[in-house]
Amino acid sequence: MPGTDFAAFAAALPKVELHLHLVGSASIDTTLALARRHPDGGVPTDREELRRFYTFTDFPHFLDIYHLVNHLVTTGADVVTLLDGLAAELAARTVRYAEVQVTAVRNRMAGIGYDDLAQALVDGRALARERHGVVLNWIFDADSVLGPAGAEETVDFAIKYRPEGTVGLGLGGPEVGVSRADFAPAFRRARDAGLHCLPHAGETVGPAEVWAAVRELGAERIGHGIGSATDPKLLEHLASRDIALEVCPSSNVATGAVASLAEHPLPTLLAAGVPVTLATDDPGMFHNDMTTEYQLCHDVFGLGVEELAAIARTGARVAFCSTELRGRILAEIDEVVASVRG
Ligand SMILES: [Zn+2]
Repeated sequence: MPGTDFAAFAAALPKVELHLHLVGSASIDTTLALARRHPDGGVPTDREELRRFYTFTDFPHFLDIYHLVNHLVTTGADVVTLLDGLAAELAARTVRYAEVQVTAVRNRMAGIGYDDLAQALVDGRALARERHGVVLNWIFDADSVLGPAGAEETVDFAIKYRPEGTVGLGLGGPEVGVSRADFAPAFRRARDAGLHCLPHAGETVGPAEVWAAVRELGAERIGHGIGSATDPKLLEHLASRDIALEVCPSSNVATGAVASLAEHPLPTLLAAGVPVTLATDDPGMFHNDMTTEYQLCHDVFGLGVEELAAIARTGARVAFCSTELRGRILAEIDEVVASVRG
């Protein structure tokens, strides 16, 4: 649409965010507060130093830093602080709904009891809705480094506590040397308990792990999945089964999963008809937000209003939110698109 003020459109577009990690969402301000509370935690207490600290040389380096920050979150109150900051940020970017990945076993290892974690999530969810008008749901993600036993513990937590807003089981962490298929028993148990299956796959490796996530884990959506782009059969499979990819362009550049945005395979995924939703992954660490992700897709890939509205609608369609909220978000997207059309 000639003359469209794209920045205003991206800012106004109602969004859902389906790939976002609780600890990685911590803004610089939130992380500084936590680092100053725990000065021996190995995380800089100076703002500029912290910015430099959040510059990653590669994916393993990113994971090292992530774990240091995770160890600053040691009480239920810390979790509520994170959720309050996250919800404020989401509201400012017209994000109406988010599914937040909570690595419960890592939180437990950092010192939070499961009772406290579950209660903090309930409290933080209520606060996000009441103070910021944002609905949060939970994906409990296993860390691949902790192996199948960690995944089983994650499922135990999700089933035993099932804090309000629980929607699924995830799987993050390194893919190199850790096969998705090893986690099949945990995902089967989660599925039997009515949880959705939402693993990362194909973030830093090729299509084989995405196939494993689909075939062995019963993945209903895939975190990242950009490694699918080189396998036309897999793309066709994802499109025909309506298995959406949660694509996080800025994250992929920040962790070195792709060399540059220009080389990101998003256009290939879209051209193949794969359902795609945009997400930030770890916005506190990557200095990105949902509005800038939409803007980048316009600037770098030339996606216009209709294409980006279609991505926003896909997000609402594949979200595990209430039917009522989905309808409200879709109607709001239509209103914003109509206003741009004039
Ligand atoms: Zn992720």
